[in-house]
Amino acid sequence: MTWAFDLDGVIASNPDFFKWFTFKLHKSKQWIDIVTSRNPKRIEETKKELAFWGITYDDLHFMSSQMPRDYKTQGEWKRDKVNSLKSDIWLDNEFKVYEKVCGVDFKNCTAERITI
Ligand SMILES: [Mg+2]
Repeated sequence: MTWAFDLDGVIASNPDFFKWFTFKLHKSKQWIDIVTSRNPKRIEETKKELAFWGITYDDLHFMSSQMPRDYKTQGEWKRDKVNSLKSDIWLDNEFKVYEKVCGVDFKNCTAERITI
């Protein structure tokens, strides 16, 4: 299985749990992508943070710095990224905001979405 994890509000909210969880997933040969709408200018800072927390992952994906930072754009970008990664399961803390407040359409989202 392949997993997509949001960073702020998910991993960053409970790094001890995700340290254990990502280690276990990786040990059982599951693929872990981190999908964040952080600005890619923060790549080095983010990698250091993940290393400090002991998070295991395979790849890290940032939303382009040229895109607007509103929630609708973030939600649509994450949905399209997760679709392109063919993630089976996607954990995020903002699905309700993306969908109910901003009108992001998840009908064609192929991943099973889990709200954290
Ligand atoms: Mg989040």
